[in-house]
Amino acid sequence: MSTSAASTLPHPSLDRLAELQENLSEIRARVQAAAPQNQPKLIAVSKIKPASDVYACYLNGQRDFGENYVQELEEKAELLSDIKWHFIGTLQSNKAKNLALTPNIYAIQTLTSAKTATALNKHLLPSRATPLNVFIQVNTSGEDVKSGLGPLTSAPTPDSPSELLELVRHVISSCPRLRLQGLMTIGSLSESLSSKEKENEDFERLRTTRDILQEVLRKEFPLQQTVEGGTTGSERWGEGGKLLLSMGMSSDFEAALHAGSDAVRVGTSIFGARPKKGQAVVAS
Ligand SMILES: *Cc1c(COP(=O)(O)O)cnc(C)c1O
Repeated sequence: MSTSAASTLPHPSLDRLAELQENLSEIRARVQAAAPQNQPKLIAVSKIKPASDVYACYLNGQRDFGENYVQELEEKAELLSDIKWHFIGTLQSNKAKNLALTPNIYAIQTLTSAKTATALNKHLLPSRATPLNVFIQVNTSGEDVKSGLGPLTSAPTPDSPSELLELVRHVISSCPRLRLQGLMTIGSLSESLSSKEKENEDFERLRTTRDILQEVLRKEFPLQQTVEGGTTGSERWGEGGKLLLSMGMSSDFEAALHAGSDAVRVGTSIFGARPKKGQAVVAS
C-alpha cells in the first residue's frame, strides 16, 4: 500500500494484528465451507472501527471493506489506498457527490432511488477506469425500519409496474458511469427461531427477485446490445450475465450462502462488537 503521507499509515498493535488475522481466517474458512463451489466475496464491515483495523486486515490480504457513514468512509479512504470500498449505509442523494469522489469507491450497495443514481452518475469522474458498481437494496422483510424497494414475486406487467424494475432500467439506460452489479438485502435479524425461518425466507425472496429481474434484463438488455454510452449490455449489468446477491451478515451469513449469496458483509465476527457511534476513533 502506498499513501500520500507514509507517516499517517495507521499501524495496528501486534496483538490486534494477530487477533484480526485469526478472526479473518476463521470467517474465511466458514465462508468457504458454506459455499465450496461459489467463491463468494467476503466484505469486511469496518464501520466505527479504526483505520488501523482496516490496515491490519489489509496486511492479511483483505481488500473489500464495507462502510456505513459517508464522512467516516472519506476519512479512511484518504488514509488507505489499494482497497475496494463498498458503501452499505443509508444513502441520501445529497451525499452522492461525496461518495462519487471518494478514492477507490468500488460499489454502492444501498441504491434505492433514480435521483441518487443520477447524482452518482453525474459526479463520477470521466477519468474513472471502470464504472461504479451499484446494488439496489431490496426490503425483503417488509419492516418499516429497513429501507429498500419491494421484492418481485412474479414478472412485472404494464398493469403491475415495479419500482425496482423502473430503477433498474434507469441505471442501465441513463447512467453510463454506473454498472448494476446486483441486489442487496439485510433481511430480518432477530434471534428467535421463528424469525430465523423468516430470515431464510428473506434470502429466498431476494433470490426469486433476482431470477425474475434477470429474465427481464436478458430480453431488454441482451449481452451484446450496444446502449447509450457505447458499452454493451454485459458491461452494464451483472457479472457474466448474472446479477449478484449481496446478503448475509455475522449472524446469518452461512444461511445466506446456502441460499446463493455472492457477497457477505461481516463486521462483528471479524472486528468484535462495535462501540456506539460517536465513540469511534477513525485513525488511532
Ligand atoms: C453493519 C452492517 C453489516 C455488518 O453487520 P455485523 O452484524 O456486524 O456483521 C452488514 N450489512 C449492513 C448493511 C450493515 O449496516
